[in-house]
Amino acid sequence: MIELNGITKTYRIGATEVQALAGVSLSIGPGEMVAVAGQSGSGKSTLMHILGCLDRPDSGSYVLEGRDVSKLGGGQLAEIRNRRIGFVFQSFNLLPRLTAIENVALPLLYRGRSDLPAAPGGRRCGPKALAEQTLDRVGLAPRMRHRPSQLSGGQNQRVAIARALITDPAIILADEPTGNLDTATGQEIMRLLADLNAEGRTILIVTHEPDIASQCRRQVHLRDGRMISC
Ligand code: ADP
Ligand code: MG
Repeated sequence: MIELNGITKTYRIGATEVQALAGVSLSIGPGEMVAVAGQSGSGKSTLMHILGCLDRPDSGSYVLEGRDVSKLGGGQLAEIRNRRIGFVFQSFNLLPRLTAIENVALPLLYRGRSDLPAAPGGRRCGPKALAEQTLDRVGLAPRMRHRPSQLSGGQNQRVAIARALITDPAIILADEPTGNLDTATGQEIMRLLADLNAEGRTILIVTHEPDIASQCRRQVHLRDGRMISC
């Protein structure tokens, strides 16, 4: 599913260079649920951005579903991002003026009608109806006309998960998805992610909380931009 080989990434600010990734190799099979652990600054988010085709490595190869994506241009990367990958962030990254339904429907707005994912049962429907069904799927049907400021952190994270899910992605990348939530709410989000994994989706979760990492079948550790266990 995912094959990284010798991935490096260096950030430059003026004359200062920070090597965020110093040669990361990692292989992840379909349907795995993997925790990416490591201290703050160890390169976890940089790795997720590269995995999610939001950023490109300086060197090394990244083969995603059999395709070498380290060589693709911006348009092709955007296409992969929109179709194969769903993102969940610590701070939800929802648009404040939009309702839950509108936030969730966003990834489908630029698609033609014939290009929309099928609803459960194979039915065809528009982005808004798909967004409603996806919000129902994450347990948020009663709140779907609310805006982010009218929802709790856990509810907003469910909206964000629904937005990641609406394109029916094979891979879900979650960067500290429980980082802004209390322990009980964080556990609910982990259960939801585990359910999505049980459906066969490949899931990577960045965390520095050992409790969260231990709920994933596999754990990899980053330190100073290198894998110290995988
Ligand atoms: P983590 O998510 O594990 O906390 P990051 O991947 O965010 O780590 O960062 C790894 C290193 O790269 C850190 O030293 C960080 O300061 C640096 N870094 C990350 N993003 C940038 C950026 N856009 N510009 C400059 N330095 C960055
Ligand atoms: Mg980070």
